[in-house]
Amino acid sequence: MSQDLVIDVRNVTKHFGGIAAVEDCSLSVRRGSITGLIGPNGAGKSTLFNMVAGNIVPDSGQVIFDGADVTGMPPHDLFRRGMLRTFQIAHEFSHMTALENLMMVPGDQPGEHLGNVWFRPFSASQRERDVRAKALDVIDFLKLGHVRDELAGNLSGGQKKLLELGRTMMVDAKVVLLDEVAAGVNRTLLNDLAGNIERMNRELGYTFFVIEHDMDLIGRLCDPVIVMAQGSKIAEGPMAEIRSNPEIIEAYFGS
Ligand code: ADP
Ligand code: MG
Repeated sequence: MSQDLVIDVRNVTKHFGGIAAVEDCSLSVRRGSITGLIGPNGAGKSTLFNMVAGNIVPDSGQVIFDGADVTGMPPHDLFRRGMLRTFQIAHEFSHMTALENLMMVPGDQPGEHLGNVWFRPFSASQRERDVRAKALDVIDFLKLGHVRDELAGNLSGGQKKLLELGRTMMVDAKVVLLDEVAAGVNRTLLNDLAGNIERMNRELGYTFFVIEHDMDLIGRLCDPVIVMAQGSKIAEGPMAEIRSNPEIIEAYFGS
C-alpha cells in the first residue's frame, strides 16, 4: 500500500437486485491531487462515491482511507477521520449568517476533546474563539467578507456553493468529495468556484475527488481523470489523453 494514496478502492462490487452498479472496480486518489471521475450516465460513479463516503456498503471489496480499511464504516466516522463531502446548506441553517454557518460545523475530530469542556470552562470559550477566528479566515480565503453577516438563505447560488466549500475547511479534511458541484451554477460563478478549489489545492494542500459532468471544469481542475463505464474503471490519465482515447469515445458514444 502506498502512503501517498488517500483513497484506495480495491475490487469493489455493488449490485442492486439484478443490476451490477459497480463491478470489481479498483481506483485510487493520490494525496495532494484533484482527481476527477467521469463516465456516461449509469456508469456507477455515484454508487462508487457513496461507497467511499460510507453511504452504501459494498457487497465485496475494500475501501482503504488514509491507510486504514474503512469498508462499511458509517459517514460520521469517516467525517471524523477527515473524509468530507459538501452538502447543500440545510433549510434550518438558512436563517443563520454565513459566518455562523461556518461556526456550526461539528468539530468532533480526533484531538478535540469536547468532554473536557465540563471540567475546564475556560477551554470552552477559548475553543469558541478559535472556531470564530478560523471561520473568519475561511471567509477571508473565499473572499466572502462582504456577505459575512448576510443570512445564508439570502446568498446567491454561487455564494452558497462557496459557503458549502468553506464548511469543509472548518475541519481537518484529508480529502474533499465533490459530487456535481457545478450543477446549476452559471459560468462566472463556476470560474469562481473552480478558482477557489484550485487555491485550496495549491495553497493549502487539499486533496479533492470530483464527480462532474462539466468537461471544461474537469479539464481545468483535474489530473488525473478516471473514466468509469459499466461499473468499473476503463481509463485514467490527464484530460488531454482521455479526450483522444478511442476506447473512451467508444464508451461514451458507441452502441
Ligand atoms: P452514475 O452516477 O454514473 O450515473 P449510478 O451509480 O447512479 O451511476 O448508477 C449505476 C447503476 O446502478 C444504474 O444502472 C442505476 O440505475 C443503478 N442504481 C443506482 N442506485 C440504485 C439504487 N439505489 N437502486 C437500484 N438501482 C440503482
Ligand atoms: Mg450519478
